[in-house]
Amino acid sequence: MHCPFCRHPDSRVVDSRTSDDGASIRRRRQCPNCNRRFTTVETTSLSVVKRSGATEPFSRDKIVGGVRKACQGRPVSEDDLAILAQKVEETLRSSGSAEIDAYEIGLAILVPLRELDEVAYLRFASVYQAFESLEDFEAAITVLRAGHVDHDEDDTLEDSATTS
Ligand SMILES: [Zn+2]
Repeated sequence: MHCPFCRHPDSRVVDSRTSDDGASIRRRRQCPNCNRRFTTVETTSLSVVKRSGATEPFSRDKIVGGVRKACQGRPVSEDDLAILAQKVEETLRSSGSAEIDAYEIGLAILVPLRELDEVAYLRFASVYQAFESLEDFEAAITVLRAGHVDHDEDDTLEDSATTS
């Protein structure tokens, strides 16, 4: 870890603490050359195992990219997407495993996406779960409707009241 002030290649750890979600460690470091202090944040790595068996580092950008497509034309902001990607990462990290199956990522996306926008959720689910027929859509919509009954106090979602 190079000192950001004098580029000295070595530093001494003065203090370290784990973030609340356990995903990163903040270290307070001191440079033995110029004696200045700086902070580094180290995140534990999270890898994605793809269907081919290859692994790649987990990327929030990829989550955002995948979900953004499903959200085209929907009232979903870039902030919403960033928050969703963060939730997905927290869910995956809370599993405690360093390697995540690509399939699990899809599942971790569906839960917050359903809360964000139901149309985007259906679009994403139809690709991810490879819907093949109208019946698959109907089944997914039935599940969504059942969810509306459970939380009808926060029922701001369109056409849930008129179609049941
Ligand atoms: Zn230094």
